[in-house]
Amino acid sequence: MLITLEKDKTAVKSIEDEIKKKANITGLRTRVLEDSARNTIHIRGMDALCEKAEVLEALEKLIPGVGAHLQMGEMRPFRNNTQAITININSTYLNKILAAEEIRIGCTICTIEKKYTVNKCRKCWRSGHLERDCKGEDLKERCFKCGELDHKAKDCTNNEKCPLCKEEGHRAGSGRCRDFRRHLSQLRRQESIGKSAIRRQKSSQGPSQFISEN
Ligand SMILES: [Zn+2]
Ligand SMILES: [Zn+2]
Ligand SMILES: [Zn+2]
Repeated sequence: MLITLEKDKTAVKSIEDEIKKKANITGLRTRVLEDSARNTIHIRGMDALCEKAEVLEALEKLIPGVGAHLQMGEMRPFRNNTQAITININSTYLNKILAAEEIRIGCTICTIEKKYTVNKCRKCWRSGHLERDCKGEDLKERCFKCGELDHKAKDCTNNEKCPLCKEEGHRAGSGRCRDFRRHLSQLRRQESIGKSAIRRQKSSQGPSQFISEN
C-alpha cells in the first residue's frame, strides 16, 4: 500500500502512528519515504569492471553510515566504456552527497549528479510542460519515430527523425534532442539558484510518501 500526502508532515505522522498501532497486531512493517522521487542521483564514470559493492564502499567512505539510507539501482553501461548507476537516497544525505560532486571509486574519479525530471508533453512532444498547459501544435496523429502523418510508429520503416529540431538520428523527446537539452539545462540553472535559497530556508517542505510494506 502506498499513501501519498502533499506537504503535510503532521498527517503523515498521525497515519503512520495509526498503522503502526495496527501493525503490532497484524505484523505489518512500515516505513516513510520522504519525497523519494526528487532524491535520486546518478553516479557516472566508473570503469567497466567496477561492481556495485565498490560504489557502496566508496559512498560509505565519503559519508559513513549512508549505506543504510539508500537504494541502489543496477550498474549500466555509460559512454566511453564506463558505467553509471542510479541511487535513491534519503533527503538528509542527498545534500551531503551532492555537495561532494565527485567521488573516487577504485582508481577513477566519478561524477555525482542529481537526477532531473523534465516534463514531456504528449500533444506537441516538446519538453518543459505537460499536455494540460500546451499551447503548441497537436502532433498526436503523427508517427512518433519519424514525424510523418500517414502511419504510426509501430508500422514505421523510416529512419528516426525529430519533428521538433528537424534532425535525423533521434525521435522527439529523446535525450539527444536540442529541445530536451535546453530544458534540462534550464532545470539545472534553476536548481543552482534554488540551492542558495534552500540554504537560507533550511526547511524542505516537499510532498511526503508513507509506505506500509507487506
Ligand atoms: Zn505541448
Ligand atoms: Zn514513421
Ligand atoms: Zn530533436
